[in-house]
Amino acid sequence: MNLASADLHPGELAVAAVRSLIPYVPGKPIGELEREYGLHDVAKLASNENPWGPSVRAVSAMQQALNDIWLYPDGSGHDLRLALARHLQVDAACITLGNGSNELLVLLAEAFLTPAHNAVYSQYAFSIYPLVVQATGAEGRVAPALPIDDSMPLGHDLEAMAARADGRTRLIFIANPNNPTGTWLDPAALRRFIGQAGADSIVVLDEAYFEYAQAQGGTDGVAWLGEFPHLVVLRTFSKAYGLAGARVGYAVSHPEVAEVLNRLRMAFNVNSIALAGAAAALADAPHMQRCVAATHAELAPLRRSLEALGLKTIPSAANFLLVHFGAHAAQVYDQLLRQGMIVRPVTAYALPEYLRISVGTPAQNQRLLQLLAALRPGAM
Ligand SMILES: *Cc1c(COP(=O)(O)O)cnc(C)c1O
Repeated sequence: MNLASADLHPGELAVAAVRSLIPYVPGKPIGELEREYGLHDVAKLASNENPWGPSVRAVSAMQQALNDIWLYPDGSGHDLRLALARHLQVDAACITLGNGSNELLVLLAEAFLTPAHNAVYSQYAFSIYPLVVQATGAEGRVAPALPIDDSMPLGHDLEAMAARADGRTRLIFIANPNNPTGTWLDPAALRRFIGQAGADSIVVLDEAYFEYAQAQGGTDGVAWLGEFPHLVVLRTFSKAYGLAGARVGYAVSHPEVAEVLNRLRMAFNVNSIALAGAAAALADAPHMQRCVAATHAELAPLRRSLEALGLKTIPSAANFLLVHFGAHAAQVYDQLLRQGMIVRPVTAYALPEYLRISVGTPAQNQRLLQLLAALRPGAM
């Protein structure tokens, strides 16, 4: 039966804000590339995952959790929230768990925006922000990014962001470090910005790459929560903890904001396997720290090698690099794909001349560099 009939268009019944959404384009899955090109041994440096994977303790906790899979999860996520509260030295009432921090971005938009409000974010900020804002019918206000010759090329321009905010601004999104640029903000400037945002808008500080940035002296938004009741800090188990497939993120906020998010949240939004894996991953800090150190050991040499190939890169405090390939970026992406190497086009970010490349294992990074060096000179 062919359900796609020519004269029935049930999709047009969707609300206008949703009909105009442009879907998020994720990194290409390994299985898809293997099917398409008949390849094996595919490397994925496309989604900023931890190439070493999670702690073995997290894996065995998740296997253990399978024994009770017929039971609903603990809807309050009690154990994980308690563990996070101890870890962060905040009250458990400040913590909201999400199906990835992605879900928390959706909940924040649903909770604080209407078509009469607006949300401010930077050009080249994480592309989920415009998506969740537009879905509510609110206006998304884009602040121009810093210029390419700035010390933080294409990064957030806090002054431009402040200038875009007005009395109808309810959410201000800041990614620090930012994806896809890798750029970061000066702690004093960021703190001043949050203080000046006033009590009428919520500042969402997305610290998905916190563990990578922290190891190099980056900002810790959670330390500012006592001072700024309108601050919400987002973190995730998807990156440094190596649990992207489990889908666990969390918000740390004033308890009233947590209570609002909790009202909107679906009853069992984080599944029992994910809860068990995240708690065990959190308890194995040495594993996470080893992964972060191994990534840092690779990042600077990878950047130097890319520059030696004549490729300009943007400074990064995260586990990926934004690399300028010029007019041939799409071609390079395609040639790498054919050789079993998935990187990330950023055309959806209006950066068609760039590719975003996650830092892999030493072997993966070497393979990437060899493939790039072997590309026809005209293709780069
Ligand atoms: C990866 C990423 C996230 C995390 O998404 P999850 O839903 O937790 O997997 C959030 N924000 C940014 C900027 C990211 O790059």
